[in-house]
Amino acid sequence: MRSLSIFGATGSVGEQTVDLIRRAGGADAFRVVALTGGRNIARLAEMARDLRAEVAVCAEPSGLAELRERLAGSAVQVAAGPEAIAEAADRPADWVMSAIVGAAGLLPGIRALRHGATLALANKESLVTAGPLLMAEAAAHGARILPVDSEHSAIFQALVGEDVAAVERIILTASGGALRDWPLEALARATVADALAHPNWAMGQRITIDSASMFNKALEVIETREFFGVDPAQIEVIIHPESLIHSMVGYRDGAIMAHMGAPDMRHSIGYALNWPERAELPVARLDLAQIATLTFRAPDPARYPALRLAREVMARRGLSGVAFNAAKEVALDHFLAGGLGFMAMGCVVEEVLEALDGDLGSDSATMTLEDVQAMDHLARIRAGEIARMPRQESR
Ligand code: NDP
Repeated sequence: MRSLSIFGATGSVGEQTVDLIRRAGGADAFRVVALTGGRNIARLAEMARDLRAEVAVCAEPSGLAELRERLAGSAVQVAAGPEAIAEAADRPADWVMSAIVGAAGLLPGIRALRHGATLALANKESLVTAGPLLMAEAAAHGARILPVDSEHSAIFQALVGEDVAAVERIILTASGGALRDWPLEALARATVADALAHPNWAMGQRITIDSASMFNKALEVIETREFFGVDPAQIEVIIHPESLIHSMVGYRDGAIMAHMGAPDMRHSIGYALNWPERAELPVARLDLAQIATLTFRAPDPARYPALRLAREVMARRGLSGVAFNAAKEVALDHFLAGGLGFMAMGCVVEEVLEALDGDLGSDSATMTLEDVQAMDHLARIRAGEIARMPRQESR
């Protein structure tokens, strides 16, 4: 029986993973090793009972008593805290979903690779902050990383049977997010509710706002560079409001392989779950005659400073991806709390990268987990200071 663990089981990607697991037979078809969650203890306990998990772990030690109480009388073991989550990743499982949001997803992913698991990677922050480290761990332990981000799954699928050396360009599609049709001068006044109204995808709160600012796409550009090893100059971004083409690979003969499908994350999660085979999935089928038109437009650099910053990070290397991601997470926290304007998030990230320039180094190949964690810590402190500084766009 195949064994699996889900990190971030109570989130948007986690729930959709659980949905597919249940449809495929649940606890009768899989041995569920570990399920982890954050604050949603009730849902974590419910899933752990239903899937007969060996262990359920919540992120906050303060949640342990409630988790224990909710799982009383079951065979599920309980634990809490970041180290307990990492220890859950030490328990061997054939397939591990990495769907914690943010930099907290890195350590469990690395620990799972160390026992040779197939890591289904939704946590793009792992590759942005520590791509070389993650790839080296996978190579050293004979583990495999499968992309779950819909764009990277699309690229992965468009590369099947092809020679990477024949790739000329990778074209990442972007919906443009909730604010894509707002006038540029109105963006500074956008609220959290405005940025959360995503036109196509139902996702977690943080990634939805990152879609509106294109920080999500910026992370994905860096993720593409780290996962597929292509030159940054080969990576393009195009706005495709319908979100039906999930990304494209252009080859040296001019051919472009595009991956299409309904905007439903269960597609790429299911592909990673069933790889290298394809199984039937409960996703909508496209009616092309009804869709009739697909549209594209180039992203406006003035609206999306995150895309330019991603290019700088890729040129800069070293620990700049760590600082970029940490500063972005802190800026987003301040936007969510109402203390920072929508466009000011980009300013904060840029100022953090400038302030830490001398500490970022330029060698990514020799980075250690300790280097990554130290820079993450430093960048969060600097970003907090910078985000609190008065600025014109701040509210
Ligand atoms: P959600 O915010 O919906 O879920 C995040 C999960 O992580 C939840 O289980 C949450 O627990 C848990 N969590 C939050 N903070 C911590 C922490 N500090 N330590 C441990 N666990 C924590 O996020 P998404 O599902 O939207 O995204 C997950 C990852 O997948 C992100 O990296 C995102 O970029 C990526 N991704 C998401 C897509 C989507 O469609 N949603 C698409 C492509 C990639 P709880 O909810 O219980 O508090």
